[in-house]
Amino acid sequence: MSYELNDKIKNLIPYEPISGTFEVRLDANECPFGYEGELMEMAEKALKTVAFNRYPDPCCTDLRKAFADFYGINSKNVTVGNGSDELIFLIETAFLKKGDKMLVTSPDFSMYEFYASVCEVGSVKYLKNPRLDIDIDELIATVNENDIALVIFSNPCNPTGQGVSKNDCEKLLKSVNALVVLDEAYMDFWDESESFLGDVDSYDNLIVFRTASKALGSAALRLGFAVANETVSRAIAAVKSPYNVNSLSQAIGCELYKNKEFLKNRLKTIVENTKLLYNNLLRVSENVSDFSPYPTKTNFVFIKTSAAKELWSFLKDNSIAVRLMGDFLRITAGTKAEVEKVITCIEKYYNKG
Ligand code: PMP
Repeated sequence: MSYELNDKIKNLIPYEPISGTFEVRLDANECPFGYEGELMEMAEKALKTVAFNRYPDPCCTDLRKAFADFYGINSKNVTVGNGSDELIFLIETAFLKKGDKMLVTSPDFSMYEFYASVCEVGSVKYLKNPRLDIDIDELIATVNENDIALVIFSNPCNPTGQGVSKNDCEKLLKSVNALVVLDEAYMDFWDESESFLGDVDSYDNLIVFRTASKALGSAALRLGFAVANETVSRAIAAVKSPYNVNSLSQAIGCELYKNKEFLKNRLKTIVENTKLLYNNLLRVSENVSDFSPYPTKTNFVFIKTSAAKELWSFLKDNSIAVRLMGDFLRITAGTKAEVEKVITCIEKYYNKG
């Protein structure tokens, strides 16, 4: 008897973020601030309410309400996932049929394409222009010419930091016979008026994703949210595994979203730190011709340089982790002190030479 892994999985490598310990972690677009003081007290109090012997609420009733109240939407439009990662996988597997094709843009969040390959869905790639943004008419044409069933992209985009305007997204939604998934993982950093969170009842082909992992500073909880009209939401709730969000995360998540003022203030600090990071990188670029930071609508900055690998390595040797992607680096805005450290180290790299 013998068993062989199939072709689609036999060469896959389990996901492993950068290994080792670093003084400064700017590689995963996380929030630099942990749960301290009042927030930690809130989490401890929430944990005490958990019925550890019981299964979690499969509908995440209280959490959906807290999330919906925070963003001023209706909880009937919300389904919760074990991080938006789970939701991406779920939507691609359940909303696509055998033989369907989906469209991804490039560069974009790599998991969209990865999950497509695992569930054997064909994917068509739309290549972004050199400014790394999307020409919406070109994208619409690609969707329609290729008979695409699902379009997914992050807005604003990880890793480029660029955003597609609400007008352009609206044009896309109205011009294609495809389900459009707008992954707004980083929208908190940009501008809520560009978001489609409040518009899902106007579209039968729209799903919006949000996450607690970025601006809300709670990546450890694994909370992702799919927002869609009631018909689509019911379908998502029906295909998800029943107890996908554990009771601890539900309890803490519920309390977290009640701290609106605190979270908005912290968000303001992260946006300021991102500006500081971008402005300093721009200053570096004035003296280095092969070093171009892109403006950003997120909590990180994407930089093009043919020295990416060497610079990444230099930063790593100085205990600073950033993300390397070919000829690009992606640096998350940390605390002010972390931003200053990474800038000093980049300057050291260019001055050593
Ligand atoms: N979408 C985008 C665009 C992301 O960058 C990430 C995380 N890097 C995710 C989704 C996954 O987020 P979560 O932690 O909610 O699974």
